[in-house]
Amino acid sequence: MVSTMEALTIRTENKFRTLVTKQSYRKGEVICSIPSENIVDKPTRFTVQITKDRHTHVGKLAALNHSCDPNVILDTEHMVMIARRDINKNEELSFFYPATEWEMQAPFICLCGSTNCIHVVAGARFLPLSTLEGHYLSRHIRETIIELLNHTDLHLKKLQET
Ligand SMILES: [Zn+2]
Repeated sequence: MVSTMEALTIRTENKFRTLVTKQSYRKGEVICSIPSENIVDKPTRFTVQITKDRHTHVGKLAALNHSCDPNVILDTEHMVMIARRDINKNEELSFFYPATEWEMQAPFICLCGSTNCIHVVAGARFLPLSTLEGHYLSRHIRETIIELLNHTDLHLKKLQET
């Protein structure tokens, strides 16, 4: 059973938007579906990347902030948002943007304060593998990384041949 977005509210403080939940969730629980009615081919501040060349407008979920130690996961294969750990009532929800975004339209500096903070949030493309491997990553991000690694392999083989 998929819960709805009704438990989620947008809170605005000093023009800074946060997405807060009115109910608690257990780790692994589905919080809501990810909207998929409005799909575009370029990322914006209001979209989440769902395949290599598709981005969906996520409605209320666009208020989700980035965290390097997030409490939710966006599962873009099953189009659901899942609790990454137990979440309390009135807690802000956040996810790791590079888990879905290969190259973001509006990069920014992260001040989340977690010990593994990546600082520059610009998409998975700009992070070392050693950083990415510590995170849950969407299938399209994992596939893009594997493609790049395969290209590296071909490149190395060509170098050896010459
Ligand atoms: Zn951070």
